[in-house]
Amino acid sequence: MKLIFLGPPGAGKGTYSQALVEELGIVQISTGDLLRGAIKEGTELGLKAKEYMDAGNLVPDDIVIGLLKKRIEKEDCKNGFILDGFPRTVPQAEALEESGIKIDKVINFTVTDELIIHRLSGRRICSKCNAVYNINEGCVPQPEDKSKCDDCGGELIQRDDDKPEVIKTRLEDYKQKTEPLIDFYKEKGRFAEVNSTQEVEKILDDIREVLKEI
Ligand code: AMP
Repeated sequence: MKLIFLGPPGAGKGTYSQALVEELGIVQISTGDLLRGAIKEGTELGLKAKEYMDAGNLVPDDIVIGLLKKRIEKEDCKNGFILDGFPRTVPQAEALEESGIKIDKVINFTVTDELIIHRLSGRRICSKCNAVYNINEGCVPQPEDKSKCDDCGGELIQRDDDKPEVIKTRLEDYKQKTEPLIDFYKEKGRFAEVNSTQEVEKILDDIREVLKEI
């Protein structure tokens, strides 16, 4: 099963992917995680990507497309995957089409700007194991201690691009460059929408319903 999770930053794509991969027997591919991995390793590509990411801008298409193609070739993707955060531009979607990979379903998560800001500003990641938490009211998963990872005890940090001034740029970039993908995929069919302002369990059930159509 090959899926695309589409939606603005903070729509919950990563959270829902992580919650579903095990039961679906597929892997989550987050281009954001791949890029952050490259930054941590200090590769040339990572250094280049960091400039864009810190400013809240999208990383150039050629870099992201290259990273994604390499990742998809790996053995663990054989059963399928959820693309979380890719494609984010029409050229990226076209590159995916051209690669001949057939996507079974594109799910777009709808959410209000207010909720996006609320979710992103409360997001914290473990500096050691990358587990994701959210310390803002009504958001999940809440860590037991706001500064420490429940799993490994690593320090919880805020991503530079989750800071308020950068969130604004990310949202503008989303509206200009990523939102057109909704029409792109609507035209192709195999498109569904899920209301991402609901409780997480309800959202996961809605996703499962959509997947029954495949
Ligand atoms: P995410 O973890 O998905 O929120 O991504 C974090 C940041 O990584 C984004 O704000 C972009 O700067 C960059 N990024 C991730 N995926 C892509 C993509 N498909 N195209 C361009 N930039 C990306």
